[in-house]
Amino acid sequence: MTETLERPASDMRTENGAVDSPARRVAAWLSDFESALTAGDAEAAAVMFDADSYWRDLVAFTWNIKTVEGPDGARDMLAATLEHVAPHGFVATEEPTGTPDLTEAWIEFQTQVGRGRGHLRLKGDKAWTLLTTLDELKGYEESKSQRRPMGAQHGADKNRKTWLEKREQEARELGHTTQPYVVIVGGGQGGIALGARLRQLDVPTIIVERNERPGDSWRKRYKSLCLHDPVWYDHLPYIDFPPNWPVFSPKDKIGDWLEMYTKVMELTYWSSTEAKSAKYDEDAGEWIVVVERDGADITLRPKQLVLATGMSGKPNIPSITGMSGFMGDQHHSSQHPGPDAYVGQKAVVIGSNNSAHDICAALWEAGADVTMVQRSSTHIVRSDSLMDLGLGDLYSERAVASGVTTNKADMIFASLPYRILHEFQIPVYNAIRERDADFYKRLEAAGFQLDYGEDDSGLFMKYLRRGSGYYIDVGASELVANGDIKLASGSVEKLTEHSVVLSDGTELPADLVVYATGYGSMNGWAADLISQEVADKVGKVWGLGSDTTKDPGPWEGEQRNMWKPTQQEALWFHGGNLHQSRHYSLYLALQLKARQVGIPTPVYGLQEVHHLS
Ligand SMILES: Cc1cc2nc3c(=O)[nH]c(=O)nc-3n(C[C@H](O)[C@H](O)[C@H](O)COP(=O)(O)OP(=O)(O)OC[C@H]3O[C@@H](n4cnc5c(N)ncnc54)[C@H](O)[C@@H]3O)c2cc1C
Repeated sequence: MTETLERPASDMRTENGAVDSPARRVAAWLSDFESALTAGDAEAAAVMFDADSYWRDLVAFTWNIKTVEGPDGARDMLAATLEHVAPHGFVATEEPTGTPDLTEAWIEFQTQVGRGRGHLRLKGDKAWTLLTTLDELKGYEESKSQRRPMGAQHGADKNRKTWLEKREQEARELGHTTQPYVVIVGGGQGGIALGARLRQLDVPTIIVERNERPGDSWRKRYKSLCLHDPVWYDHLPYIDFPPNWPVFSPKDKIGDWLEMYTKVMELTYWSSTEAKSAKYDEDAGEWIVVVERDGADITLRPKQLVLATGMSGKPNIPSITGMSGFMGDQHHSSQHPGPDAYVGQKAVVIGSNNSAHDICAALWEAGADVTMVQRSSTHIVRSDSLMDLGLGDLYSERAVASGVTTNKADMIFASLPYRILHEFQIPVYNAIRERDADFYKRLEAAGFQLDYGEDDSGLFMKYLRRGSGYYIDVGASELVANGDIKLASGSVEKLTEHSVVLSDGTELPADLVVYATGYGSMNGWAADLISQEVADKVGKVWGLGSDTTKDPGPWEGEQRNMWKPTQQEALWFHGGNLHQSRHYSLYLALQLKARQVGIPTPVYGLQEVHHLS
């Protein structure tokens, strides 16, 4: 009977006649790996990695977000961590797939303190990529699914408190008579997602937000804004968007969703509250955070401080000769109210990335005379092509139908080490260039300077490296190509009372100037709130050290300072787009929970500081 069963093409006989298959290859690797680890033999485990290999660990081994490379990297990491991590129980969780050249498997494992998940790619019998992530802490599992709270308290109890009474009591006490363990400064989507994770993990947390309502950081952006990322990419932890949610969420709709989410996830969210200063009290091992709420200063003393103040929150406003004498309106893109007041007027938008394009298009639609000033080349990718070729396999209805849930997509994405991620991206953008060749030709003919990333790796790498330099085209490029949005190239020399003058002498009459000039590094927030000294100690936030524009080397392997320990004790940065915020909030929350309950968290490979901002 067995003889007649068809074996997958990837199964074959080894020299001694045993059937080789993806499952056997993975089982053999995991079993040998586990034996080496249990024997405390870092060397034996290290040689199971290919010379060209990458082990990405999200908190499970390193209490850090860290990628090590090759057998040397694995050896070094294991020598430092093996004893206290005590990893074991490695198994494949789904039928492994692939050929002897490349075998892939989803895995589970345990450490002394937690349970983890991961992904393995084998080239031959050696590991090429290994992802290990901490999923939960033993003894501190989240109250969900089988562990969900009862809600009702059956029986009779004279001291019964309702859910509402308990919530009200907490609101009265937390931050007043009891101290939060964590204060998150910034209640945008980042602070809210992390707050939800911490709530689930029972970590007393206050989110401090200067706006009046959750979601206001979206509501206050220019009125035409819709998310550029599709719904499958944007879910928040625990609550997915419903199936009727639009593919690209209008900004006010996402604002309302965040407000609803904050409420139903039972977050302690102090709106209309501004964090004014923070100082670390070394002796007490806690922060002194002064916030202004309802006109009064309140001092909070959390053990951990998270800045979730936004990577698109600190405007870069250029200093240009003549700005103060300009007679029209001028503002940064983040302050742009929308086009209504500028019908029939002359608008000059300085910059050529996402915000510049969106604002130009909305002004043109409203009947303004619009000129975009482009200083350096921009990467443009048409939304349709990006959704189809760039994101479709992971984040789309097609992906969901083929079993790639958002959670799985996040893990697949995480399993590709940053060092080689561009190699996976270049073919995608080559295909997009081919598909949209006509479109790009017309843009260039209009004088628009294009790029595809310094190594042609496109949008996502630009985002990870510098967080800027691109536009996802949802229509404005056509207006640039056909001249409806006028284009000027070069840098701005000065402003006169009624115009913008470029360095080649071109004068652009203007009633409105919008500086769509991007945002500064998040460690500027640390300087504002804490001190320049602490900001310098922590260094640049974001980027990989790719040695490309705005992302100077040396190579870091992971995003600088994001979601992981920094050089300043008990100071953390959280944020990124909705995908990153959703996925990495788990690892930051677990790091904070472990510290709250006193689980030792020796950090392997704390990031060195090479750049101040
Ligand atoms: C035009 C534009 C389009 C974008 N499109 C997308 C998209 O399609 N998809 C996507 O995922 N991302 C997009 N982004 C990126 C977007 O900025 C982030 O995804 C998102 O806003 C990040 O959330 P966040 O919580 O990290 O920061 P923010 O939303 O900026 O929130 C930070 C919060 O911190 C508060 N804050 C700052 N300092 C203090 C203080 N001292 N005290 C109290 N509160 C303080 C601010 O009021 C703000 O609400 C876009 C950004 C811009 C500018």
